Amino acid sequence: MSERFLVTGGAGFIGSHLCERLLERGEVVCLDNLITGSREKVAHLVGRSGFSFLEADCTEGLPVPGRFTGVFHLASLASPVHYLAHPVETLRVGAEGTRHALERARADGARFLVSSTSEVYGDPLEHPQKETYWGHVNSVGPRSCYDESKRYAEALTVAYSGLGVDTRIARIFNTYGPRMSLLDGRVVPAFISQALRGEPLTVFGDGSQTRSFCYVDDLVEGLLALYDRGDHLPVNLGNPIERTMNAFADAVRQAVGSSSATKYLPLPQDDPRQRRPDIGRAKALLGWEPRTGLEEGLARTIAYFRTKV
Ligand code: UDP
Repeated sequence: MSERFLVTGGAGFIGSHLCERLLERGEVVCLDNLITGSREKVAHLVGRSGFSFLEADCTEGLPVPGRFTGVFHLASLASPVHYLAHPVETLRVGAEGTRHALERARADGARFLVSSTSEVYGDPLEHPQKETYWGHVNSVGPRSCYDESKRYAEALTVAYSGLGVDTRIARIFNTYGPRMSLLDGRVVPAFISQALRGEPLTVFGDGSQTRSFCYVDDLVEGLLALYDRGDHLPVNLGNPIERTMNAFADAVRQAVGSSSATKYLPLPQDDPRQRRPDIGRAKALLGWEPRTGLEEGLARTIAYFRTKV
């Protein structure tokens, strides 16, 4: 049978790359309410055979005609700046949006994949993070709207798995690449745009907190591997090479060829101290691991941002 995919959040950063890859396999309906996504991210796909874009809010339902073989639920507000500005929308897309997407998968007999997050581990006390770690999340802190929306989305996905839906849970760690939004406040677009403009790089706190950055092509390859070969239990997808934000600022300066200074700003509340995926399960189950080094990934990302700054 030919494949037909629904991608919620398809006009977002990761969603747009996923739509592009899925279009190689079948028909793709990209659905997005454009709260943080944009038509521009999928403009190169519009008009290609099998691709259609629908501006709609999955929180309100998914009355899309036809039957799907796969539902990818990526709709979310992934940047701290966005989810802090829209906490209720963030909770609703994780709760009602996920329920509508799961109901759709159940009705169509489709396989379902939800994009979860490393944020389910909160400010982790276990390092690196394995899927078996239950997390350390402040349920009433500023990040809770995002963290709890994804934890609820995971719980709902497990519940529907028990009802017979063929489900996947991807715990996505920090991802970067072309088509990130310049102004979304995340560290990769922030540092790159500052370095390109010759402005100081804004490092929050003392810059000793760590993150592990995965290039988007690797991440999408992981999502497809999980969809094809995974099981119903969560899988971490990310790059296990960990860096402090000070070291990351240096890497961006070097890749841009910039001599921008560093400007230290206060650390946001509940900013996780450290984050690195244990990808042992992804390697064993999916035969997947990231292949793109930071130098190469940054070069491609900077080339994209040069056209935007
Ligand atoms: N950060 C920073 N400067 C910025 C933006 C972010 O130092 O201009 C830090 C932030 O405090 C965090 C890390 O970079 O420790 C990653 O932040 P981001 O918002 O990209 O994603 P997060 O992993 O926190 O969701």
